Amino acid sequence: MDDRSIAVVGLGRMGSAIAEALIVAGHDVTVWNRTPEKTRTFEGRARVASSVVEACRTCDVVMVCVLNYETSDALLKVKDVERSLAGKTLVQLSSGTPERAREAARWAASVGVEYLDGTMSAGPKQIGHDAGSIYYTGSPETFEANRPYLAHLVGNTVYCGTEMGHAAALDFAHLGVVCGTAMVLYNVLALLSQENVAAEELFATLPFLDRKFLEGITQGVATGNYPSGTASMTIWRAWAEQFVQSEIDASVDPKVPQLLLDYMTRSVELGHDDDDLSSLYEALRPPKS
Ligand code: NAP
Repeated sequence: MDDRSIAVVGLGRMGSAIAEALIVAGHDVTVWNRTPEKTRTFEGRARVASSVVEACRTCDVVMVCVLNYETSDALLKVKDVERSLAGKTLVQLSSGTPERAREAARWAASVGVEYLDGTMSAGPKQIGHDAGSIYYTGSPETFEANRPYLAHLVGNTVYCGTEMGHAAALDFAHLGVVCGTAMVLYNVLALLSQENVAAEELFATLPFLDRKFLEGITQGVATGNYPSGTASMTIWRAWAEQFVQSEIDASVDPKVPQLLLDYMTRSVELGHDDDDLSSLYEALRPPKS
């Protein structure tokens, strides 16, 4: 058993699942969250730190999983926290752009922190199970030294090398295709609904798209019920902001992800902030009369 003590900073859907998986695997875990109520389920099973600096001071490894890098920076780029992190390993699991991953690695080196940037291609239900992937960039030595506990998080733990933006770029490409397809589907489903044509008739004409994928991604549309046990529209929207920024940074025309971001913003404005991706349909269909 790897006996390093691990802090998990951020107990949202993903951070909670990560802390749970590490506890189940027998690790010595400390948790911290901005809203203290979310630490309650860990009382008696993990140490609850009263501050980020305490979490960093008392642990060998710190894993961060919050809204985005701006949030993470506000928590970590603080003198006392930087001092507590020096000589330790920081694993960043919040979503961000390739450029943010590069910046974070430069900052970590400047304050003497071993750094791994992780991109999660997994949802909370996959964490702790033999499913999903997490892609890491950073030094091979740091990755190998930390692999034993990282392997408890998902089925597939992948090292992508020292080019820090690699995993983030791959993730934007992957999710961009999924979300872009979803956006077009919700748009045409709105048209079909207005014209009283069943979605099934469309699905039967799309043999190049897997039926399970089509039915899964349009499930909320069919039922008008979009509860999120995985990723909320707030998180999707924050991710889309990073997607737009990644393309701007790379001098790619960002109109495609910008459109996605606009619809996600509208979905949040319509009150679907805590609902899942398929609530994007509500932003694309005509308002209910
Ligand atoms: P979530 O359930 O909405 O949790 C967000 C976390 O960020 C909470 O711990 C929240 O604290 C914290 N946070 C937000 N603003 C903060 C602030 N200003 N200061 C301190 N803490 C703050 O989100 P999630 O689904 O766990 O996602 C977390 C990260 O994982 C995101 O970067 C997301 O893109 C990435 N990710 C998620 C999924 C998924 O399926 N959910 C998959 C892959 C990657 P409070 O509890 O106090 O609000």
